[in-house]
Amino acid sequence: MRLSRYFLPLLKETPADATIASHKYMLRAGMMKQNSAGIYSWLPMGFKVLKKIEQIVREEQDRAGAIEMLMPTIQSADLWRETGRYDAYGPEMLRITDRHGRDMLYGPTNEDMITDIFRSSVRSYKDLPKCLYHIQWKFRDEVRPRFGIMRGREFLMKDAYSFDLSAEDARKSYNKMFLAYLNTYARMGLKAVAMKADTGPIGGDLSHEFIILAETGESEVFCHADLVNMPPPGVIDFDSDLQPQVDERLALYAATDEMHDADEFAKLPKDKQLSARGIEVGHIFYFGEKYSAPMKAKVMSSEGKEVVVHMGSYGVGVSRLVGGIIEASHDEDGIIWPKSVTPFGAGIINLKVGGEEADQVSEDIYAKLTAAGIDPLYDDKNDRGGVKFSRMDLIGLPYQITVGPRGLKEGIVEVKTRATGERQSLSPEAAINFIISEFENI
Ligand code: ATP
Ligand code: MG
Repeated sequence: MRLSRYFLPLLKETPADATIASHKYMLRAGMMKQNSAGIYSWLPMGFKVLKKIEQIVREEQDRAGAIEMLMPTIQSADLWRETGRYDAYGPEMLRITDRHGRDMLYGPTNEDMITDIFRSSVRSYKDLPKCLYHIQWKFRDEVRPRFGIMRGREFLMKDAYSFDLSAEDARKSYNKMFLAYLNTYARMGLKAVAMKADTGPIGGDLSHEFIILAETGESEVFCHADLVNMPPPGVIDFDSDLQPQVDERLALYAATDEMHDADEFAKLPKDKQLSARGIEVGHIFYFGEKYSAPMKAKVMSSEGKEVVVHMGSYGVGVSRLVGGIIEASHDEDGIIWPKSVTPFGAGIINLKVGGEEADQVSEDIYAKLTAAGIDPLYDDKNDRGGVKFSRMDLIGLPYQITVGPRGLKEGIVEVKTRATGERQSLSPEAAINFIISEFENI
């Protein structure tokens, strides 16, 4: 993409209500625009990152055997009345009346609807287990929308729902998601810790939140320090018994403040007692028959008996992750994108737009990186060097190639790695090869 043709409305000043890094940088880097409290437009560069995160979530769900579908954002109140949640949910639910006076709502979650879809077609134990998911916009009329898209009112969530014949089988489904989640966050460069959690209005008795540590996090969390650097599960054989891998992690203390047990925590060695702030980027629940019993979601067992299915639900805050990644990866100059989610692979800074050689070398690098699938952003605008450098640092692409008359005299360009600040003087060919090799196996 040529910057001169792109839509990247950068802000010079930080808006006063933006207090945390992700909120500030997403606004300044032209990734989003607020339309009303907690409701945002995703501008082209923000949307690109959102799509990349969504795709990683999708791939890891698919790998764990979940099946993608799409449910609507607008739901009928009838299903929510069946489960008793229409009254229980409270003012966070956006309630709408259609022209015929029917009660509708903008879905804050989809347990009721998916249970209805399941019960209307699945009849036999032979069809279990099943895990269905979608990635869809949700609406929750939060009392205090804040921190930009971190706590929005409209936000993108991946929600999966599992159906099993017994509590024991449901535990297996839970374990699949538990481990798949750890891989999902690791692919985005995040260190997420699973913590024992309260179940809230979703209900149920087994639940974990996935938390990334950040000073600006809304939750207070407590955990064994070793959990933070524990490597992700990596390749998982989802047909094997996953309990040992899950237990290995659950053996170490980790809880959010609602579930915190100070006495248990105090038993940890002092240097392993980590209390910190965290951002919730996912939440998984096992809630058994909570929805399937009132909605009569039953299947025939192998003994010919009707059995109420056991369910779980599994959420990932897809849009919140955009902010979460920035909170985990930025400096005073701007964002530092992990390679897996970066909006563009590299930035090309032409310091002499209109100069024959600088233009030619920049165009050549642009063409070759594009052909190699790096998706570069070429700064071909006629601005001063200082403006170009700070703009590139702000938007945080992992690599910057600077093409300037001084270097070109010696046949070199400069490659800067955004995360470390390291600079290398290389020939244009070597610069291209270096960047291509950095993106192998991403
Ligand atoms: P929270 O405790 O942060 O209010 P929740 O427990 O209500 O979240 P869940 O129902 O578990 O949220 O939703 C699944 C995921 O969706 C959360 O882990 C979070 O990452 C994301 N999420 C929830 N509410 C919001 C919101 N208002 N804005 C952005 N993301 C959200
Ligand atoms: Mg939660």
